[in-house]
Amino acid sequence: MAEEANCIFCKIIRNEEPGEKIYEDDDVICIKDINPASTHHYLILPKKHIRSAKTLTPEDSEIFDKIVATVDIISEKLDLNPASTRTGFHWPPFNTVHHLHLHVISPIEKMHFMRKMMFKPNSYWFVSTDYIKSYLENCKL
Ligand SMILES: [Zn+2]
Ligand SMILES: [Zn+2]
Repeated sequence: MAEEANCIFCKIIRNEEPGEKIYEDDDVICIKDINPASTHHYLILPKKHIRSAKTLTPEDSEIFDKIVATVDIISEKLDLNPASTRTGFHWPPFNTVHHLHLHVISPIEKMHFMRKMMFKPNSYWFVSTDYIKSYLENCKL
């Protein structure tokens, strides 16, 4: 697909563009955000090109669970405090890159006010993993 050929995240996955990979397995990778909102700011992305949280389907449940589970792997590896770590997805049209990615930001206390607004939990533009989980479960009905 043309979209995948030009996608910056797909290029990082294919090692055609530089990206600081924190973690990688068969299905997902975790990279550093180039414009960090706090001390730690990572993006967990599926290797499969999925446009956004909005285009996820129940068939993607497995990969979605894998993305969420990767948060624990990263947190443990980098010793992040879960109580002050924020995670979430952009909700279209507020996504900047059209390849699904979960933001992991820590610690919340060190975030600048404007960035806090940008990554506000369950706002119209930034949604939690729980929200998507129930969204996918409701799709199945
Ligand atoms: Zn992509
Ligand atoms: Zn983003």
